[in-house]
Amino acid sequence: MSNLAVLTSGGDAPGMNAAVRAVVRKALSEGLEVFGVQRGYAGVIDGDFIKLNSSSVSDVIGQGGTFLRSARCDEFRTPAGRKKAAEKLRSKGIENLVVIGGDGSFTGAKLLSEETGINTIGVPATIDNDIACTHDSIGYDTALNTIIDAISKIRDTASSHERAFVIETMGRHAGFLALAAGLAGGAESILVPERKTDVDEVCQTIQKDYEEGKIHSIILVAEGVELEGQRFETNREMNESPAFALSKEISDRTEFEARVTILGHIQRGGAPTGRDRLLASRLGAAAVDRLLAGESNVMVGLVNSQVQASPIKDAIEQEKELDMDLYELSTILS
Ligand code: ADP
Repeated sequence: MSNLAVLTSGGDAPGMNAAVRAVVRKALSEGLEVFGVQRGYAGVIDGDFIKLNSSSVSDVIGQGGTFLRSARCDEFRTPAGRKKAAEKLRSKGIENLVVIGGDGSFTGAKLLSEETGINTIGVPATIDNDIACTHDSIGYDTALNTIIDAISKIRDTASSHERAFVIETMGRHAGFLALAAGLAGGAESILVPERKTDVDEVCQTIQKDYEEGKIHSIILVAEGVELEGQRFETNREMNESPAFALSKEISDRTEFEARVTILGHIQRGGAPTGRDRLLASRLGAAAVDRLLAGESNVMVGLVNSQVQASPIKDAIEQEKELDMDLYELSTILS
């Protein structure tokens, strides 16, 4: 093995740059040549490769986003697109590819490896933290801290005006981010997609809190939550975001006037936290180790605080379960 390529793909996450840096510097330290692919799989198909040296990754450890840029690429979803991608890599003499991204990107990496023989290693980076075979994904801790910071700022207004605030976080299918941020941020209620949300129950709890003297209420809602209730069509049928639908109900049915804040893409940006930089550095270097050991089609992750490689198939197919004990704890402590 004399070289490798590295790319970032799918939704960006803080710490992707730190992971690229680790891949580059570890590979150089092993005497390998390193190519960066710009714009994810679209860049592989276009042959958009740049040679990276140590100074190419100077000062990127603390930068959010990804200097290699990311993209979504429909052509790569087809066997013909992946064949073209392998041909472009081989035209540069490249047989090894590190893919930093989420489960969509890993599905692509798995198929590329199986169909063309290109060696692929996945490095999990997504703020949703919904990838199995790793306790944490790169970017999750930064997003968590961004939300906690937002909660504390919004709480100032909520208390001053004695209001309820419904804060919507990212998480179309997974509530890891909402649950952890809600617990750490002291939210009164946390709504996650993994658990049915009865609007009647939520309103009753909020009203009870009001009667017991709470002067504000923070309700954290993951964007993929489905609302149900006695006099409530599901929010999806109403074609409405759960945050706005819930806010209307709270204003109608409790003493609190409710407001909505959609945190949106601020959750994706910003300088990575120390934890994310460490994770990215460890996993990026481990990806190079796995390639040097002759492995392919695996993902490196953190299991019981140790770096561990797992078949990429398991990372994609296994369901990562929300910690329901943590959920119960959040209801006790709120
Ligand atoms: P993420 O990696 O963050 O989950 P996406 O799901 O958007 O992001 O996937 C990123 C890219 O990975 C897609 O644009 C596509 O090129 C590739 N990809 C996703 N799903 C598949 C699939 N089922 N087969 C092949 N390639 C895929």
